[in-house]
Amino acid sequence: MDIQFYGAARTVTGSKHLITVNGTRILLDCGMFQGKRQESFEQNRQFPFDAKSIDLLILSHAHIDHSGSIPNLVKQGFQGDIICTAATRDLCATMLPDSGFIQERDAEFINKQARRKHERNGHPFTPVEPIYTYDDAMACLQYFTTRNYYREVKIAPGVTLTFHDAGHMLGSAIVQLHIEDHDTNREITLVFSGDLGRKGIPIIRDPDTLTRADILIMESTYGNRVHEPYWDSSQKLEQVIIETYKRGGVVIMPAFAVGRTQQLVYTLHELMQKGDIPEIPIYVDSPLAVNATAVFQLHPECYDDEIRQFMQENRDPFGLNSVQYVRSVEDSKRINFERQPCIIISASGMAEFGRVLHHLKNRITEPQNTILITGWQAPHTLGRRLVEGVDVVRIFGEEYPRKAQVEVLNGFSGHAGQDELLAWVGAMTHRPQRTFLVHGEEDAAMAFKTSLEQAFNLRVDVPVTGQKFSV
Ligand SMILES: [Zn+2]
Repeated sequence: MDIQFYGAARTVTGSKHLITVNGTRILLDCGMFQGKRQESFEQNRQFPFDAKSIDLLILSHAHIDHSGSIPNLVKQGFQGDIICTAATRDLCATMLPDSGFIQERDAEFINKQARRKHERNGHPFTPVEPIYTYDDAMACLQYFTTRNYYREVKIAPGVTLTFHDAGHMLGSAIVQLHIEDHDTNREITLVFSGDLGRKGIPIIRDPDTLTRADILIMESTYGNRVHEPYWDSSQKLEQVIIETYKRGGVVIMPAFAVGRTQQLVYTLHELMQKGDIPEIPIYVDSPLAVNATAVFQLHPECYDDEIRQFMQENRDPFGLNSVQYVRSVEDSKRINFERQPCIIISASGMAEFGRVLHHLKNRITEPQNTILITGWQAPHTLGRRLVEGVDVVRIFGEEYPRKAQVEVLNGFSGHAGQDELLAWVGAMTHRPQRTFLVHGEEDAAMAFKTSLEQAFNLRVDVPVTGQKFSV
């Protein structure tokens, strides 16, 4: 059996790991690289393998850095099954077409810039095509096929698949493959952690612990950092809102439309209901977030006990009176005239594109406002620069002095911290013979490699892109 790592190798985005066993080529995730626009555009355009040669795709969860290249894979000739949970499929049905729109706009932007440059130089200009379009994304959905958690299913000769709950986002799965390797006559349990969540985050269940892995492919996003508990962040959220309210300011939260937005709305709902924060308007300004919230409502099978209880008493956890879900551009622009304290939750989560940029541009120069960061911020993004405390930011090509406060809450992270990752491996009674760390920047992955070696004496590799292992 071979494993080859094509993405999320010494970086976080672009998850793609190819397993070749018994003549079947199984791709684990098919994510997009995210980062600098031009660089990601090149990386995402071509696959380092022939899309037609892949037999099956197993998708751990719907986040774009795991699912975002699926429309391109199908466009380039993949025709196998895409296997995931029902919630992941339904989230992809709104997220991938939305990503198609973004790809179309990205290509327009790149073409506009290139055209200007070529006109200045007097060179002929050839426009680039989008990596994929809205229509390509719609077309790939027919290849999705769903499996529930804990249902073992045969997917290829000698290979059965079981999904366990990864506790990271709605529908997220740990992938367990039971493999009878016909070349070596060995039976192997291969576990791919996907993105591993944390205990106690709202809405979804805690990550499952597994008892056995012979081969482990594991994420390491926070391999070198411990998070504060969710509860502490929830209390800080309360403080930040109260302080901003007293200053007469607005709280802007750049947030992923899927997952983080729903968690924040649910947490704010709880805080308002207990009277811990004032009842001020909350705007969820992202059409994708509105669609995704509808998908959350369709999948109570993924909920934890706490939200089930909450629903018995309050019915809709995402629909309190003060929340206004904003779809249209006109309604989004209207928020600019809101001068009373309010909360604006808007995508993108790293403030790289999307409507949140308009809100930041509009309010970042006013000291009474707060920008509240609740998620991991990739290098070179505006979100990362805000976390680093820059005083001047560039938005839509213009510079603005940052006068608004910036607050960072790590406890809302959907990813396990270093201690939680270690505990997850520690809970196995049969620990892996080979471990491959993916989905972490090099520092984080290397630090976690050392932790695993010291704690459990494991054999750990941190693959580079394209590296192949025979196991
Ligand atoms: Zn994820």
